Amino acid sequence: MKSNSQKIKCLIIGSGPAGYTAAIYAARANMSPILYQGIQPGGQLTTTNDVENFPGYPDGITGPEMMIQLQKQAERFGTDVRNGWVTKVDFDKGLRVWVNDSEELNCETIIISTGASAKYLGLESEQKYLKLGGGVSACAVCDGFFYKNQDVIIVGAGDSACEEAHYLSKLCNKVTMLVRRDEFRASKIMQERVKKTDNIEILFNTETVEVIGNDQVVDSVLVKNNKTDKQTTIPVTGFFVAIGHKPNTDIFKPYLNMDETGYIVNEPGSSKTNVAGVFVSGDAADHVYRQAITAAGTGCMAALDAERYLASL
Ligand code: NDP
Repeated sequence: MKSNSQKIKCLIIGSGPAGYTAAIYAARANMSPILYQGIQPGGQLTTTNDVENFPGYPDGITGPEMMIQLQKQAERFGTDVRNGWVTKVDFDKGLRVWVNDSEELNCETIIISTGASAKYLGLESEQKYLKLGGGVSACAVCDGFFYKNQDVIIVGAGDSACEEAHYLSKLCNKVTMLVRRDEFRASKIMQERVKKTDNIEILFNTETVEVIGNDQVVDSVLVKNNKTDKQTTIPVTGFFVAIGHKPNTDIFKPYLNMDETGYIVNEPGSSKTNVAGVFVSGDAADHVYRQAITAAGTGCMAALDAERYLASL
């Protein structure tokens, strides 16, 4: 194994808005940050079409373009952006990190910005239209606007699905909610909110069979009642999936405090974790807001916290 004996002042793991914002601040504070991009350079935004809710882009910007600009901004101030995947960490004796299972890095501070991944059903047709940007999304707040006055489906029965269904109901003509069991998982108050909304129709015991379209955009979805096996085609232009997210935090589990889903628990009002010198930003610690702008904000916090930590040593 290659060992990098030189201490890295600031290692940033992850290349979404949180990671690049941390890098911009850390580089400008002379912390010589090294950022590893991970398995999906640019993070979740690279699967979004247009970003219209990030302040400063009055005409919107595509997700991939925004990530290229953020990378350029981080590099302009000297961030060393590297291709590679952090596969192992050891926080017992110092802060040690392994990249691609081989290179060992010794760090003074680490900013975790590994994000979370939206869960999808895994159907071939769902993945096809997701990749085409043609009507499949896992973020109503990001993409709901593109379905204004149209009919959409949302899959899921938790708090996220209810919140997103309600959000969509204010933009769309009709929202059909597919719930796989005969009851919600969401809290009562969230359930009541969707049940009371006129343009939300809830189909219990209903699963998705196939997302249908013209090889460019979605035009309907084939669903099945799992009690009767009856199949129905619902005409829609948007197919939203809200069946949960998985934070990308598995490698930190032995060392960092996490909630039961794997979100890293930070000190309230700061980016500090339970390990000195290790900070967290973005969706790896946030199951509530999950927006590019909130991720960027916490990336800034993490860099400032890391800078103060180094100054205090
Ligand atoms: P949850 O894990 O709570 O819910 C996931 C939902 O997706 C479940 O209803 C589950 O169904 C359904 N599901 C999973 N897989 C499939 C599948 N293959 N096909 C169809 N349905 C599927 O995730 P959430 O993202 O909703 O919430 C995560 C956490 O965040 C929760 O603790 C929640 O309370 C919290 N949260 C709080 C909010 C608030 O308070 N404002 C807003 C949003 C989230 P089943 O029930 O059958 O397992």
